[in-house]
Amino acid sequence: MRRRKKKKQNPLVAIALSVVLLALSVLLFLLMRAVLSGKEIKTESCKPNAAGEIAVMTPAPTLLDLYAYFDWTETTTIRVYDHRADKLVDMDLEEYIVGVVSAEMPAYYEFEALKAQAVASRTYTLYSMAHGGCHTNPDADVCTNSKCCQAFSTHERMQNAWKNDYADNYNRVAQAVMGTAGEVLVYDGKLCDALYHACSGGQTENSENVYANALPYLRGVDSPYEDPMREEDVSFGTDALVELIAAKYPESGINGNNVRDGIAIEKAYESGRVETLRLGKTTITGKQARNLFGLRSTMFTVDWTGTGIVFHTKGFGHGVGLSQNGANGMAKHGSDYREILLHYYTGVSIASYGADGITEHTDAAPQNTDNPFVPEG
Ligand SMILES: [Zn+2]
Repeated sequence: MRRRKKKKQNPLVAIALSVVLLALSVLLFLLMRAVLSGKEIKTESCKPNAAGEIAVMTPAPTLLDLYAYFDWTETTTIRVYDHRADKLVDMDLEEYIVGVVSAEMPAYYEFEALKAQAVASRTYTLYSMAHGGCHTNPDADVCTNSKCCQAFSTHERMQNAWKNDYADNYNRVAQAVMGTAGEVLVYDGKLCDALYHACSGGQTENSENVYANALPYLRGVDSPYEDPMREEDVSFGTDALVELIAAKYPESGINGNNVRDGIAIEKAYESGRVETLRLGKTTITGKQARNLFGLRSTMFTVDWTGTGIVFHTKGFGHGVGLSQNGANGMAKHGSDYREILLHYYTGVSIASYGADGITEHTDAAPQNTDNPFVPEG
């Protein structure tokens, strides 16, 4: 992990620096004037022209503006491996988190849900870095491959995905990140492995039922406001089903004659997620079944039709930690990001991460309650 702080400059560049600082002060003054006048700060360049095209899209306010507003002078540089461009990029931690939240949660989600995601993603990042960094790229703290670390959007990808909404969406996500800058989740004074997933289907899962370790803050909890539940039916004709099982698990002895009696859910967890599924003479885990049949989650039931099998699934993802969909539901029902995080991560505290290490918050009062950047709706 690399940290950088403001350094004293060489006297030879002091004059040039003064000029730059003066220019920045003017910019900051203009920014603050715009803030105080209640106007949303926008660049004209992001407006479509008469033909509806967008020439140059500049997000506003910039992270520099936000850093200035929040008086955030502490910065942490992390080394990110961009797996699409195949290159290492050094970037500010908070800037990286903006790219992660943009990729991991829909920008239209409730603002408090975006803030909860920002804290979870920041904690997940710092926890990973403290445990050896990216596992597939030893030179990087994190990578942009969601199968390894967390998904990440560059500005180019945000522009392609959001098109005319780019500036507004960028604003919204950047404000959620900067409104929680430096905030992390801790348990017993240590960073948490802040896992999260898209949708729990109504109940999250104990970590040991999905991963190796039972962590005290990753307990299954009710997730009452999941809407929709991301339900999906996945069907296979009998022949295709037998072929799929026989290719991966030939020891099961499954064939066209015994398949109907050969498949059954053996054990399920309290949450309703499948623990084990019997396939003829063998037994596989719910996770293996999810992979084999391409299911959204291990929360499924099985039905036979005249022509084959149907897996009815609920939820999306591993089910451990924060449910993004549930977080959005809680926010719609009036919870702020702290309430959301304390609900999904059992017994954690919210702390500040900085050069001095981790400082646990003793008061529950949210920071930046006068945040003028909080978007409406
Ligand atoms: Zn990685």
